[in-house]
Amino acid sequence: RAQKVDSLGHASLLPSNNSLADALQYALENSAANGLPSITISPLQGQYLAIQSQLISAKNILEIGTLGGYSTIWFASTGAKVTSLEIDPQHRDVALQNVKHAGLEDSVDVILGPALDTLPTLAKDGKKFDLVFIDADWGEQFDYFAHAVKLVRPNGCIYVDNVVREVLEGDAQAYESGKKETLFQKVGKLDGVQATLVSVVSSHKRHEDEAFDGFLLAVVKG
Ligand code: SAM
Repeated sequence: RAQKVDSLGHASLLPSNNSLADALQYALENSAANGLPSITISPLQGQYLAIQSQLISAKNILEIGTLGGYSTIWFASTGAKVTSLEIDPQHRDVALQNVKHAGLEDSVDVILGPALDTLPTLAKDGKKFDLVFIDADWGEQFDYFAHAVKLVRPNGCIYVDNVVREVLEGDAQAYESGKKETLFQKVGKLDGVQATLVSVVSSHKRHEDEAFDGFLLAVVKG
């Protein structure tokens, strides 16, 4: 199935032979050379998020989960300022190298620490974002989402990555028996939030069901 997806020629849509393509390639290679796990968003997803950022003219973007700054570079390539939260000092250091190599260091701020500690500080400082991208640990997705709702400007949007895999690979029994609510069920109860599931069929797969995932896209009403 992944081969069929590959044969669609979608790689032709991605940047090539330009500084963004070089920066993204360097970020992947330098991250791997430094032993970071290969768990970035896919190239097409990066392109999707960059297009979405431009569609809403995003000037300030918040990202939860920096890793080596691959998605950060996609966002910053649109001209937006990116604040990215990362718990692991080594990931932060590699991300800063990659962002600098991309020439985007003036547009990116990586804040080190557990996101659940950093997010209330951003709110206390009165920070507002046009778009929030949640791509850190699965167990905390709804907590991050609840913070993001407070941090986006009216009609700003929130993306949460890997929302299908979280259910497929998570505690399926607890979800099926209704003991545990999925992110969709929790988000569905929030007032002033309109959300949907964007399905992703990706050739960027490191294990079987990664080819079929999705992300949650929400708009927070003004
Ligand atoms: N967005 C990145 C990309 O596509 O290039 C990938 C992010 S990776 C899936 C998740 C990152 O979240 C890891 O670097 C991990 O160290 C970080 N992380 C995990 N728990 C965290 C927490 N509580 N606070 C902040 N960052 C966290």
